[in-house]
Amino acid sequence: MTVLRVILADQLSAQLEVVARAEKGKDVFLLAEVMAEAIYVRHHVKKIAFQFSAMRHFAEALKSAGYKVRYVGLEDDGNSQSLGGEILRAVEALRPSRILITEPGEWRLRDDFEALRLALPVPFDILPDTRFLCSHAEFEAWAVGRRELRMEYFYREMRRRHHLLMEPDGKPSGGRWNYDAENRKPPRAGLDSPRRLSFRKDAITLAVLDLVRRRLPENYGRLEPFHFAVTRQQALRELDHFITHILPGFGDYQDAMIRAEPYLRHSLLAAYINAGLLYPLEVCRKAEDAYREGHAPLNATEGFIRQILGWRAFVRGIYWRFMPGYVDSNALEAREPLPWFYWSGDTNMACMKEAFQHTFDHAYSHHIQRLMITGNFALLAGIDPKAVHEWYLAVYADAYEWVEAPNTIGMALHADGGLLASKPYAASGNYIKRMSNFCDGCAYDPSVSIGENACPFNALYWDFLARHRGRFSGNARMPYVYANWDKMGADKQTALRSQAEAHRVAMREGRL
Ligand SMILES: Cc1cc2nc3c(=O)[nH]c(=O)nc-3n(C[C@H](O)[C@H](O)[C@H](O)COP(=O)(O)OP(=O)(O)OC[C@H]3O[C@@H](n4cnc5c(N)ncnc54)[C@H](O)[C@@H]3O)c2cc1C
Ligand code: SF4
Repeated sequence: MTVLRVILADQLSAQLEVVARAEKGKDVFLLAEVMAEAIYVRHHVKKIAFQFSAMRHFAEALKSAGYKVRYVGLEDDGNSQSLGGEILRAVEALRPSRILITEPGEWRLRDDFEALRLALPVPFDILPDTRFLCSHAEFEAWAVGRRELRMEYFYREMRRRHHLLMEPDGKPSGGRWNYDAENRKPPRAGLDSPRRLSFRKDAITLAVLDLVRRRLPENYGRLEPFHFAVTRQQALRELDHFITHILPGFGDYQDAMIRAEPYLRHSLLAAYINAGLLYPLEVCRKAEDAYREGHAPLNATEGFIRQILGWRAFVRGIYWRFMPGYVDSNALEAREPLPWFYWSGDTNMACMKEAFQHTFDHAYSHHIQRLMITGNFALLAGIDPKAVHEWYLAVYADAYEWVEAPNTIGMALHADGGLLASKPYAASGNYIKRMSNFCDGCAYDPSVSIGENACPFNALYWDFLARHRGRFSGNARMPYVYANWDKMGADKQTALRSQAEAHRVAMREGRL
């Protein structure tokens, strides 16, 4: 009897049980491009093109290996344009004895599939996603009974469990767990991005680019040039290129930002790991090998591995533990609507404009731009977290709710009240001036807090701290900040708060 094996756009991994246990010539794989998923937020056109092309290539590889595949293209006759609808159509056409799917990465879809499971006349099993470095049960076992969930402690346990950067005596390589203090150098003169790979567009990718151009005119972003890897082989080349040429410098300038240099020494691997073209463990092991062979220093290797083994696995644990309510969190009661310049890029703030340009052009901006520029601004200005979350979910090629939502709602906006991060990542223009060259040539001046040319990050920063004093003044990591605020005196404090309100008015009126 035929088993229908459903594969979603971010499940393009031969290791998954749904794929690995299939019987050739008997079982049928279902992959479907549907409008409901392409437009439920204004996804970046590069993200959709990457997903469709990678799905089509994955389907071709399955067919070449002798499997039966039911591939539903976006424009195919009868496409119901929803995932549930395509499963129902496949059941009617193929009469399978059973349906298998890997757990989706979004609560919304898991809920939909649970409902479908009850409605279908055939057994429908949702299998665990075994690619992640920590299962739901393992995260729960770690989290239960803890007063606070902190990535650093989780990460140490993950290092031990996966034997990454561990020495035979059970101690961390180099004697320390974390080398972050060495990874915060401001940009030096002449720092730029190493060369990046660009993959040849074959007939499949060209057809997808044409499809996306015609059918998704309302979606966000620039479609071409399109450089993405769309097969596992290409993604492996991207990984090798990173390990060989870029990893050695990954650590030092991890937090630096430079005009017209979107990538610097970041890996660009998140889109491939999240879609399933690369496995997180193989990526970490290759990085560790580079360190053991003397090719990459420890601060770079540890910093890189921590992002995947620590942060990536940790945010997934947070997402599933606190959903479905997590995406509605608004602990700081932020209510400002998302300013239109998040979509248009039309702002006088050079740092924000730069981050928006990278985002629009590449469906990418690196972590510090997401966190300390666009995220920091939304935090300080008090923008509604749900609207900010939907923006981040739409605009990056690596964005899937399980990873995007905790990063946005928890890390960037502190809207979860500190579940994910012990203190808000709030910073004034000073930080941006130190870590980037964006302020040179900006309409605003980072050293000015009040007046016509005042950097908006400054007054908004102090106003944010003043508004939330009740919540943060007791935080062990923040007393010096409030001591500085108190030293200013009442007149300066009032002037800063009026200036912050003036920035908010300008933001609402599209003048900022
Ligand atoms: C507001 C906000 C939204 C974000 N949204 C996403 C998202 O939708 N999808 C996503 O994958 N990451 C997201 N991140 C985390 C991080 O910014 C991206 O993973 C990273 O920028 C991707 O680029 P890269 O592959 O070059 O990463 P690198 O800087 O090279 O890092 C290496 C790898 O570590 C992992 N990683 C690094 N930081 C994180 C993190 N905080 N959480 C999870 N994994 C991490 C990624 O797999 C990444 O490929 C977000 C961060 C913030 C602050
Ligand atoms: S002056 Fe302020 S707004 Fe302008 S780039 Fe610097 S930090 Fe950004």
